[in-house]
Amino acid sequence: MSIVPRPLAIDTQLIHAGEGDRIEGAIRMPIFQTAMFEHDESPLRYVRYNNTPNQIVLNRKLAILEGADEALVTGSGMAAISAALITALKPGDHLLAQNSLYGGTHSFVRTLLTDLGVTVSFFDADVPESWNSLLQTNTRAIYVESITNPLVRVCDLERIVDFSRAHNLVSLIDNTFATPFNYQAAAAGFDYSLHSATKYLNGHSDVVAGAIIGKGDWVHKAGKNLKHLGGSLDPHACFLLHRGIQTLALRMRQHNTTAQALAEFLESRSEVSQVYYPGLNSHPQHKRAARLFGGFGGMLSIELDGGLKVTERVMDRLQIPVYAPSLGGIESLMTRPAISSHAGLTPQERKTAGIRDHLLRISVGIEDSQDLIEDFEQALA
Ligand SMILES: *Cc1c(COP(=O)(O)O)cnc(C)c1O
Repeated sequence: MSIVPRPLAIDTQLIHAGEGDRIEGAIRMPIFQTAMFEHDESPLRYVRYNNTPNQIVLNRKLAILEGADEALVTGSGMAAISAALITALKPGDHLLAQNSLYGGTHSFVRTLLTDLGVTVSFFDADVPESWNSLLQTNTRAIYVESITNPLVRVCDLERIVDFSRAHNLVSLIDNTFATPFNYQAAAAGFDYSLHSATKYLNGHSDVVAGAIIGKGDWVHKAGKNLKHLGGSLDPHACFLLHRGIQTLALRMRQHNTTAQALAEFLESRSEVSQVYYPGLNSHPQHKRAARLFGGFGGMLSIELDGGLKVTERVMDRLQIPVYAPSLGGIESLMTRPAISSHAGLTPQERKTAGIRDHLLRISVGIEDSQDLIEDFEQALA
């Protein structure tokens, strides 16, 4: 009887997967602070070609974490997203995009991608009956996010994969918010899983980076375009991302736990009129999120009774969360999407998207849950 080995848990893979030989016995991979390498039998090695040792180790690790064939570390999340979209689409093609995209992605799609001759239709991920009617003969790709910002919606990702296969579309997902710890998008069937590694993958708010993970041929093609576009990650930043990513499991477990506890506390308070968090029973896609994800993540948004004035006072009084944009680091951050991520939208567009002026988004860090709860308790009082 043959024994099929149990696949290693993600905790172990984060530490050991993709690591090469120990150079001079060094336990940590050294930083190859060099732009180019001597000619030998191997292909030309150059940082912009994404084939230097600090990049290769990350490429191997990222692929294994999402159960994918290949991966490519990039100079930012937007480098990953733009290279993947440019690879999936040609002039004259049509893209179906979820109607609540990250601001930078939305702007890229509406400006440069449009200038390159690609047309786009935005779809409501909660109304699958509407998707068919948006298909055109030149529709080539479909783009979604695993958890949307800032209202943390979770669309029917299985149905998106089925739909893309039925209609021969390249499927792309921005998996930044869920991370490979909570959702393995490539293993779930997406052709491209894209990340802003600036957020949870690195986790320490000290690097800007991205990743393209997915099917071998698609990642290869994107890699060629990335060489032209120049969005490669330098060796020192690779080293920092490598170090950050190895604690992803520990951090995500804590983000999941702390955010859940804080969300439950906030929901119990009369001063809080609305809490958006996929781990709450009150979240419209809670059951789906529980089925698809290993955890509900660290992002939540709230609305306070009393609107903007009260919200600003509460933000002033909070001691632990830092008032700053971005997310996914070990420290809790808070921001108002209306004046940050969604400031580029008109008030009417924000209204349609359900983003009110006093909506407060919290990137819950890995602090002790009780400390955060008590901080919110005193601020609300
Ligand atoms: C931050 C972010 C991006 C862009 O990533 P950069 O690393 O800033 O280029 C893309 N998608 C999502 C969901 C993000 O949060």
